[in-house]
Amino acid sequence: MNSKKTIALVAHDNRKSDIIEWIVENYQLALKNKFVCTGTTGKLVESALTEKFKNEKIEYSNFNFTMLKSGPLGGDQQLGAMISEGLIDFMIFLWDPMEVQAHDVDVKALFRIATLYNIPIAINRSSADFIVSSHLMSEKYEPILKDYSFYLKRDVNL
Ligand code: PGA
Repeated sequence: MNSKKTIALVAHDNRKSDIIEWIVENYQLALKNKFVCTGTTGKLVESALTEKFKNEKIEYSNFNFTMLKSGPLGGDQQLGAMISEGLIDFMIFLWDPMEVQAHDVDVKALFRIATLYNIPIAINRSSADFIVSSHLMSEKYEPILKDYSFYLKRDVNL
């Protein structure tokens, strides 16, 4: 994990206003790091930052955002694949504790993969604040991965 981090950004619909507020509050951090977003979250964050900085020196083009598909249309799974490839340093996923989502199984799979690859996950704004205020933000950090070689070498009865 480099000192410049690649941060996954996702929010359920009832949490999108929170993620927008959070990223605008943390635009200095946003300028220094890279983001990978699910489609709708990314689109809304992009237009909020463009609007916020339209009259200022900071230009939106200074931000580094990659947009994936919308979460329910495969974006969460794309993110899971990126985590398994070691391309994401940590994830901010503001999820809605009040509503069942059509793509709950995808969200569960994403959290499972993030846990398996031992990347930090922020599930609400305060956990996001704690992660980004860690001294590890500006240091190299390699998550320790559990050794699953026993699993790959297991006997499969055919
Ligand atoms: P979205 O996906 O950003 O495309 O709305 C979010 C999610 O996975 O729930």
